[in-house]
Amino acid sequence: MAEAKFKCLRCGHEFTAPYDPKVTEERACPKCHSNSVRRIKEESK
Ligand SMILES: [Zn+2]
Repeated sequence: MAEAKFKCLRCGHEFTAPYDPKVTEERACPKCHSNSVRRIKEESK
């Protein structure tokens, strides 16, 4: 499974989590448990 970076819009915490494009699962920030989490596009290496 691919991993994607996410950022919490509430506290600004950034984290990496397994990401499956087929599954639209609700994510919560591991720090503040807010649902305002947005996926960040990873920069090409
Ligand atoms: Zn947060």
